[in-house]
Amino acid sequence: MSITVKNVSKRFGHFQALDRVSMEVPSGTLVALLGPSGSGKTTLLRVIAGLETPDDGTVLYQDQEVTSQSARDRNVGFVFQHYALFRHMTVFDNIGFGLSVRKWPKEKIAQRVNELLHLIRLEGLEGRYPNQLSGGQRQRVALARALAAQPKVLLLDEPFGALDAKVRIELREWLRRLHDEIHVTSIFVTHDQDEAFAVADRVVVLRDGRIEQMGPPTEVYEHPANAFVMDFLGQVNVFQGTASESGPQITGFSDVKGTPVKDFCSNTIYVRPFDLDIVHELNGQAGLAGKIIHITPAGGVVRVHLQDLHSTARVLVEMNFARLKEMGLTVGKQVGIVPKKARIFTPDYMI
Ligand code: ATP
Repeated sequence: MSITVKNVSKRFGHFQALDRVSMEVPSGTLVALLGPSGSGKTTLLRVIAGLETPDDGTVLYQDQEVTSQSARDRNVGFVFQHYALFRHMTVFDNIGFGLSVRKWPKEKIAQRVNELLHLIRLEGLEGRYPNQLSGGQRQRVALARALAAQPKVLLLDEPFGALDAKVRIELREWLRRLHDEIHVTSIFVTHDQDEAFAVADRVVVLRDGRIEQMGPPTEVYEHPANAFVMDFLGQVNVFQGTASESGPQITGFSDVKGTPVKDFCSNTIYVRPFDLDIVHELNGQAGLAGKIIHITPAGGVVRVHLQDLHSTARVLVEMNFARLKEMGLTVGKQVGIVPKKARIFTPDYMI
């Protein structure tokens, strides 16, 4: 079941929550709606669900227009941030609830619930009540309940938002595996770019009710459409500089080469922490002189925080442990910082 959103706008009073949003969700894919708070992610999800009617535009499920159809008639499954499980019902009854409402026969309900218990790896816990489960287990039950009536579409709004960091990571990996097993077209809202990148086939980046960019995670990360997307997607060093024919030139990095491109006076240059390198001595290379002020492990890499010796700017460099050891880098050392790759963004131009 593919989903098409065409020119959807939604206002709340005078506030424009969605502004001519169009997007395609191919059948069987898992798409993340990503963006800062208030960018319109939940509103878009609710319009797709049928919980909100757009002022303009259309929503299609496959080739059928559903814009004015109720959520109930669209056959969508929902999972929200706060596990909306019924406290007085067992896991079994929670998962089977929607099926009893639909008057499924008891044996069929039992069969489906058992299938789902297997899918969410909670066999044996069907007799427990929600308060006898962990947060992660509750959210898996909420997901099983959403999937019970075999929805055509699964919509998740910050499904792991209330969980601690470790459980959150486990669950997002689990959701990806689950999606690979069942392939139901799914859209999930998150403001966490790591989560979106870890789970989704495609990400849609929203700002102020508009789509800034959409595409596969690697493409969006490698080729951000503009400064906002670059800045939003992970840590980035921001420098001033100029665009020149031979590439970005960062102010303060010595040995500036090339002539500035016409019409440029000042620009912002974004450099990802792993696109910078540290050298013992600059030896005439284009680079900044910096002092290491802090070294922190972050997953499989180390973050080296530096102070630019000629300004108040702080610079962040990421490298692997082996290189850190090999170079003998320690807090207090003075080193050179050299860019491996940099991008310049101006309002209308990008290198
Ligand atoms: P968050 O990550 O904080 O949940 P979001 O990107 O999901 O944010 P939305 O919940 O879609 O953002 O809200 C978009 C904007 O629309 C916000 O400024 C919000 O205050 C406004 N808004 C949403 N629902 C309503 C409503 N029912 N009435 C008035 N304004 C609303």
